[in-house]
Amino acid sequence: MKYCLSALFLLITIAGLAQTQCRSFEYRQQQLKANPMLAQTVATIEQFTSRQLSQRPVAVTGGTSGGTSSSSGAASGGTPSLITIPVVVHILYNTNAENISDAQVQSQIDVLNADYQKQNSDTAEIPSYYRSLATNCGFRFGLALADTNGQATTGIIHKYTTNSYFTINDDIKSSATGGDDGWDRDRYLNIWVGNFTGSLLGYSSVVGGAKATDGVVVLYTAFGTVGTATAPFNLGRTAVHEVGHWLNMIHTWGDDSCGTDLVADTPPQQGPTYGDPSGIILSCGNTPYGNLYQDYMDFTDDIGMHLFTNGQKARMLTLFAPGGFRYALLADTVPVDTATDAVSVAATESSASAMTIYPNPAVSLVTVQLTDPACLGGLLDVYNQLGQKIMSVRVTTLTLQLDVAGLAGGIYFIRASDGKKGAVGKLIRI
Ligand SMILES: [Zn+2]
Repeated sequence: MKYCLSALFLLITIAGLAQTQCRSFEYRQQQLKANPMLAQTVATIEQFTSRQLSQRPVAVTGGTSGGTSSSSGAASGGTPSLITIPVVVHILYNTNAENISDAQVQSQIDVLNADYQKQNSDTAEIPSYYRSLATNCGFRFGLALADTNGQATTGIIHKYTTNSYFTINDDIKSSATGGDDGWDRDRYLNIWVGNFTGSLLGYSSVVGGAKATDGVVVLYTAFGTVGTATAPFNLGRTAVHEVGHWLNMIHTWGDDSCGTDLVADTPPQQGPTYGDPSGIILSCGNTPYGNLYQDYMDFTDDIGMHLFTNGQKARMLTLFAPGGFRYALLADTVPVDTATDAVSVAATESSASAMTIYPNPAVSLVTVQLTDPACLGGLLDVYNQLGQKIMSVRVTTLTLQLDVAGLAGGIYFIRASDGKKGAVGKLIRI
């Protein structure tokens, strides 16, 4: 699916397929060259990762698709079982076609949720001999409902640019160069969507790289599953792959001939896989089952990608251990839109869990009406405009009363956990 310039012989071998490109590795090499300090930072993060994996190995139960906990706080003693990642999508368009719809963005969020929680509908395509490797990575993605100033947002920015295309030089990440500035990476995952030159599908920042450029970049025709999404990259797997890099994944062939991806349970393989292959493809002595080309970190077409492994999950989660590079994201300061969370859609036939707030605007007493009994026993949290949790009550009945008389005037977000997607509402205190 994605194609990095890792080895010249590969370039020649698959030159005819060069329309399929992830350039995260090439970008990484550029960044390391331009910033000599980055190598040390990357090495330090790698040492931390190794230490975490040896000291606190993540259970490799595999196969199950649990993840019913909605805990997203920085739980002491370990990472939560489901980590919520607030997402902001920056759409840079020069033509109308490039100004993709919010529905297309949501379709991408849904794929991220499905694939990172092993809720994707095509897991049956994983060969039986590799099925036990597939796992629920435990990440939930939601469009941010509050921006960096605490103002209400959809988590989607549509911005006109005079640039007819972008490259991997990061112009798309800065307003000064025709792009859009990223939001604080300690609180958000930034995704930039635009048009690119050449055959670039996307790339990710380097884990350990500059704060302002942290996030992933995806071509507008390879984003989501509707609208401009175009086969064979119309199933949202480019973003899944790039977010994998953002979570410190390396290509399955280790960006070298029979290289290492620093993951224990992925077999070695000689190079990237293209198209939608079938059967066993042996390389690097990886008998008996061969290349794991169904992995999201290979270059296979969207339709051929189906899994992350237990080992990949363990490596991702080290970023969220105390002291880890993305640990700050666990602070849970940004309410997210989970109304169409893929997990909840897959888990229940009922429509999205609703929340009614009245009176609204309010002065003192507010009634919050929930509909989903799954909310019972969970928490109802109130966030201020800065995204700080300022009130939290246990849900003992579906009709609750909150006293907001002590709150300053402004907009507040209320979120109730139902163990899956949650219910979210906006309260105006006057
Ligand atoms: Zn890649």
